[in-house]
Amino acid sequence: MTRDPLVERMRAFGTTIFTEMSALALSTGSINLGQGFPDTDGPAEMLDAVARHGLANQYPPLYGIPALRTAIVGHERRFWGLDRDPDGEVVVTAGATEAVAAAILGLCEPGDEVVCFEPYYDSYAASITLAGAVRRPVTLRPGPDGRYRFDEDELRAAFGPRTRMVLLNSPHNPTGKVFTRAELTLIAELCQENDVYAVTDEVYEHLVFTDAAEPHVPLASLPGMGERTLRISSAGKTFSCTGWKVGWATGPAALVATVARVKQFLTFVNAGPLQPAVAVALGLPDEYFSGFRAGLQARRDRLVGGLTEAGFAVLPSEGTYFVTADITPLGGTDGADFCRGLPARCGVVAVPTQVFYDHQEAGRHLIRFAFCKREEVIDEAAQRLTKLSR
Ligand code: PMP
Ligand code: GLN
Repeated sequence: MTRDPLVERMRAFGTTIFTEMSALALSTGSINLGQGFPDTDGPAEMLDAVARHGLANQYPPLYGIPALRTAIVGHERRFWGLDRDPDGEVVVTAGATEAVAAAILGLCEPGDEVVCFEPYYDSYAASITLAGAVRRPVTLRPGPDGRYRFDEDELRAAFGPRTRMVLLNSPHNPTGKVFTRAELTLIAELCQENDVYAVTDEVYEHLVFTDAAEPHVPLASLPGMGERTLRISSAGKTFSCTGWKVGWATGPAALVATVARVKQFLTFVNAGPLQPAVAVALGLPDEYFSGFRAGLQARRDRLVGGLTEAGFAVLPSEGTYFVTADITPLGGTDGADFCRGLPARCGVVAVPTQVFYDHQEAGRHLIRFAFCKREEVIDEAAQRLTKLSR
């Protein structure tokens, strides 16, 4: 039995870059600005609620407890003006990751095509492959002002007779791009012309900085899109609890039922003891959400200052936990080599973005840093990175 037991279609997928780089940070004692997880806890009201509600030790309902479904719908109404029914138009999932996987597995026949944007979040490629579907990535490239854009003709050309859905992540990991209303309108028109679904990953919905060109707009809120869009988000980023893995999908009942049908055979249910606390968190006053954003924006500025000082060409980040940097001014040509060498050179870990592309050349010189860390950690990392140009 010397053969690799893994099914052939998964062999291209090794250990995720996040796992690899976090292990490298641990083994070298480096500061981990690779994997995006905060190093502080979420809001006290949410953490207290875990204790206050006691542990619910048995299965919650398949769609999630009513209090959480009501809170998800209320939060979407408050911030985005969306109007979903807590009974049937929302399902709680094991993080956004499971919602994305269940949506793809439930909607795509083998050979169906998924239009997405590269660099893409790594689980998208794996879920598309697990479904036997095919990804059609459209490349995001930095324009003259450093902001990432896509080419309209390239997007149009990505659609064809087998297109089943567009999978859109905005605010976008790893680039920090926030898709503009004009870009979203084009995507919406193409979804309608080609009669395909949209699945949106909006886990960074509250992390759009005040200097972004435009605010976040959920694709589901555009004319004609509510009936064909599954909107996915999660508690992990907004409430600094990435390990809780509480996510959700909202949309028309038929699309939500598709996610639930698949989910019941993946995990059935998840996070029973944590669901009441996420309901509390979603109901926090607006000041929580604006304070959270302001805190991250300040840390972004701190890290961008440090990276610039260290000699990187830093691209603008309008949102998320992340900023990308061009390694060319430091003599780098390959981000993967650069990131593997970085711990030994200066005790910092970052993530190469080329692994999130099919057309890897487009991202070979770019690496991603996470700034969801305490200020003293960012300052120490910035200090260490100055060694690169000395
Ligand atoms: N989508 C994007 C764009 C992400 O950056 C992440 C990582 N947090 C996820 C999905 C996964 O979210 P969750 O941990 O809720 O599964
Ligand atoms: N979303 C996190 C990131 O982009 C990583 C999550 C994971 O490790 N799967 O860094």
